[in-house]
Amino acid sequence: MNRCILCYRCVHVANNLTEDRVHGVLNRGEHAEISTYIENAIDNDFSGNMIDVCPVGALTDKTFRFKSRVWFLKPMEAECSCTKCSGKVVLWMFGNEVYRVTARKDTYGEVEDIEGKPGWICNECRFEKKDTAKWNVIGPRVVDRHSVISQGKYETKIDSSTKNIE
Ligand code: SF4
Ligand SMILES: [Zn+2]
Repeated sequence: MNRCILCYRCVHVANNLTEDRVHGVLNRGEHAEISTYIENAIDNDFSGNMIDVCPVGALTDKTFRFKSRVWFLKPMEAECSCTKCSGKVVLWMFGNEVYRVTARKDTYGEVEDIEGKPGWICNECRFEKKDTAKWNVIGPRVVDRHSVISQGKYETKIDSSTKNIE
């Protein structure tokens, strides 16, 4: 929670996902902190979507936490038939292993709309489907080349006479 910048994005998402406000900011001024009871308070199949909107990584996926850095993983578009959500996700893979499942995000880091509705994904797709057999993998997700996630994935030509990288 010492990463939290109190941007309220998670509060906004929680408000969209629940009928009543269930989490927010505790205390005032420099002691202000986002409620750490989020997990207990939000009993909802879609609560994991708050992780996707947190811009600083203060909210993390407990199934992925400390397992790897995102820039070591390969983002792949995938889908499954899910009765709760659209099932359209990004799988973050290392070899053939699924390390993390997230919603698809647009160039602004917002969850992408799917068929005119926000593409939130359910907790079952996010936390429990870590087996590639459960997914139809479509292909690599295009990631902006300025993103840290693209690190090490640029195609470069090395001129062997000068060792310059073009
Ligand atoms: S989205 Fe992240 S940074 Fe923003 S208020 Fe919530 S926990 Fe803090
Ligand atoms: Zn789902």
